[in-house]
Amino acid sequence: MILAEDSAEQLRAEHEALIQFLYLAPVGLVQASLDGEIAMINPISAQLLMPLSPDGCLTNLFAALEGVAPGLRLQCAQYPRAQGMVFEGLHIHLRAAEQSKRAPQILSLTLLKLDDARIMAVIQDVTAEVRRERQLRQSDAWLNAILTRISDYALVSLDRLGRIVDWNESIARVTGFGEHVVGSPYSVFYPPGAMTPEHLLDRLREADCNGWSLDEGLRLREADCNGWSLDEGLRLRADASQFWASALIAPLPDREAFGLDEPQAPAYALILRDISDKRAASEKRRQAAFCDHLTGLANRRAFFEAAELELDRAAHTPRPLALVLFDADLFKNVNDRYGHPAGDRVLVDLAEALRDSFRIVDTVARLGGEEFAVLLPSTGEEEALASAERLRALVATRLVPSDGGEIAYTVSAGVALLLPGAEGQCDSAGGIDELIRRADQALYLAKGRGRNCVASWTSGLSDNEDIPQRSRNAG
Ligand code: GH3
Ligand code: MG
Ligand code: MG
Repeated sequence: MILAEDSAEQLRAEHEALIQFLYLAPVGLVQASLDGEIAMINPISAQLLMPLSPDGCLTNLFAALEGVAPGLRLQCAQYPRAQGMVFEGLHIHLRAAEQSKRAPQILSLTLLKLDDARIMAVIQDVTAEVRRERQLRQSDAWLNAILTRISDYALVSLDRLGRIVDWNESIARVTGFGEHVVGSPYSVFYPPGAMTPEHLLDRLREADCNGWSLDEGLRLREADCNGWSLDEGLRLRADASQFWASALIAPLPDREAFGLDEPQAPAYALILRDISDKRAASEKRRQAAFCDHLTGLANRRAFFEAAELELDRAAHTPRPLALVLFDADLFKNVNDRYGHPAGDRVLVDLAEALRDSFRIVDTVARLGGEEFAVLLPSTGEEEALASAERLRALVATRLVPSDGGEIAYTVSAGVALLLPGAEGQCDSAGGIDELIRRADQALYLAKGRGRNCVASWTSGLSDNEDIPQRSRNAG
């Protein structure tokens, strides 16, 4: 008797635990008869099914779902076995409410036949999971498109020391490198000498610094940080040819999930893009902006940019900087006698002579009209005078063909120097304008001496009232 009471008590306790489980379970649970009459339903199920119930009272599972999943009753009735899974994870798409902007809700329904009289339904709201899965699939498709179809991007994953973690088709397409690059530092994509091991790590640290907020842990900063490190330059293909590329290194957002402690775990993404075409176009634009259209020399703007740069360098490392101004002599007469187009051909000829006479490091520019300038870095007065004289003498021997016969012409030149620290010379404080003013005064002196000669600026020149400021052609 006591035994019977004990087991009855135990049964009650088990039943109570079961009810509690039913109520607290994180999924919807419904126990019903084979034709759907509900015997037990937990709060989550009630919450999910109530809006579907046509009459507002939840008495039959199949009736509640009839509008969104018809035929469940039949499917259940036709289930041949005494017990088992009638179906599992059936997705039921609920229609979004007319005014609601939210995505339609998706329920997952699993139906179990417990015995000849009872079924159990397990119901879950899987809207978020399905959306996440769909997003993942989209990302996969996007990545796949980059890896297999887009021909100018290479996508490379790097470990925390900048070594290539795995190989994919895009690497082969853009760089021609095969699978053997796995394990190599990403500097394999750089021409020899273009990337030191320190530089390689610097770029990764740069990406880290720009990409991760320290005070918030490993979270990508939003507004104020780029989260990547970008550089442009020449890169190397497997066949040793080079191409112009932009490279972007970004820390992987969930690299902790990959196991950051593992040396070979992917920690960064390197995106290498072949921008040779874009580079050619920007080079064309640059040429248009910085080249003189008649002679192809640097124009006035390019000259002043180069001059500022040279002046800046000269200010940091003491070395001389020379400027020579050349002006075609009595050019008005050339135009008057042979015509303006012939005058143009003479200017082109003079530009050619200048280009051939000076070094690559010298900036040869047409400042405007028949006036040219040459900036000679690390050049003293003697050397500058000699170069100017060489050009003058060369021009005096040249003849330019024209309809009206061969044209002989001459140039005059004025030389000025910037010698930091040297007495009586221009210092960098006066800037390029002062240097030009002095070369201009020297040029005026050469003209006064009968033209077809070279003169150098001396300190006495600026005190000489007879030497006015020549008006310079505007570019
Ligand atoms: P100077 O020896 O004193 O320099 O005499 P100049 O005749 O060369 O000097 P001036 O400044 O009186 O005249 C410059 C001439 O250069 C006048 C102008 O028609 C000519 N000129 C300026 N730009 C061009 C150009 O682009 N093409 C041609 N054909 N002539 C130009
Ligand atoms: Mg002239
Ligand atoms: Mg002139």
